[in-house]
Amino acid sequence: MVYQRDAVEALPAYVQGKSIPNAVKLSSNENPYPPLDSVVEVVRERAASISLYPDMSAHDVVERIAARWQVRPSEIAVGAGSVEVAAQLITASAGSGDEVMFAWRSFEAYPILVQVAGATPVPVPLTADDRHDLEAMLAAITDRTRLVFVCTPNNPTGAIVTRDEMERFLERVPSSVLVVIDEAYAHFDDAEDSVDGLDFFRRCDNVVVLHTFSKAYGLAGLRIGYAIAPERIAANLRRVAVPFGVSALAQAAAIASLDAEDELQERIDVIRAERARVLAGLRDRGWQVFDSLGNFVWLRTGASTTEVDGILRENGVVARAFAGDGIRVTIGSPEMNDRFLAALDGVPASV
Ligand code: PMP
Repeated sequence: MVYQRDAVEALPAYVQGKSIPNAVKLSSNENPYPPLDSVVEVVRERAASISLYPDMSAHDVVERIAARWQVRPSEIAVGAGSVEVAAQLITASAGSGDEVMFAWRSFEAYPILVQVAGATPVPVPLTADDRHDLEAMLAAITDRTRLVFVCTPNNPTGAIVTRDEMERFLERVPSSVLVVIDEAYAHFDDAEDSVDGLDFFRRCDNVVVLHTFSKAYGLAGLRIGYAIAPERIAANLRRVAVPFGVSALAQAAAIASLDAEDELQERIDVIRAERARVLAGLRDRGWQVFDSLGNFVWLRTGASTTEVDGILRENGVVARAFAGDGIRVTIGSPEMNDRFLAALDGVPASV
């Protein structure tokens, strides 16, 4: 039989939320709006040259991102989605016997990417109120810890890490450990005391911030995300990147999206308002939900997860269920959200 790495054959596959006919798809934290006209226009223009390889250095978009955040272009590394940049970070930092820590539950890809790299995932349970347990994470750091992911707002619970919590955490994390602040959902976070990853990036040599164009910018289908990282680390990310990983269409669309941030902000505002409406609707129906600062809400359905998910599906709502734990439901358009709330009518609140 052909040899394959045991660690790979043992891996669970990353599962994508699948749509079903006539259902609303609220399973992937996608932006419910259609792409902006200005973005579609540049993608059309670029389509004329798809017979050519993209600019591997992603020069223009890197310059644009650097200007946006007032950092140096050499501190930006792009990838085909921030999930790819997360993989690059792990590959560049951790190998066999090394440990990569993250809160759990958090983004499902973390443990998979760590195992693919041959390193050891160290999941640290969230607190009882679904937040990062930074004290427990500190206590779990060993001399083999190479990287710690801090996801804020956390997927799927929607809880944030505060500025003060991060300050205290970073004061005590050894400087040899890289702390990756995954801000995939930061645009939806309007809490006053939230961590601003860039602020810590500017002050600490071991902090990387991860951003994506998939969520607030609505480019999930084009695949582009980036790290803002200390120069040496950003250079290593480029070394481990798959050549030509970020398409010319994605690069152009990202620039057009940064040019349209005001227009996108209006959409973000609507999604935030809808999130408040959905949370209120859930509470009216007896659900005890924590505030979420992402573009999704988290139902702690525990043992009834599969049952509640089944009811949602029967009512034409596809969400992301984590068996035995909870269900994450993306904030969609007002109509989609109505459909979700109506689907829960008559369902006894699980917790
Ligand atoms: N980080 C988090 C926390 C996420 O939830 C996701 C997507 N679900 C990503 C990163 C990756 O997104 P993308 O690869 O589309 O940029």
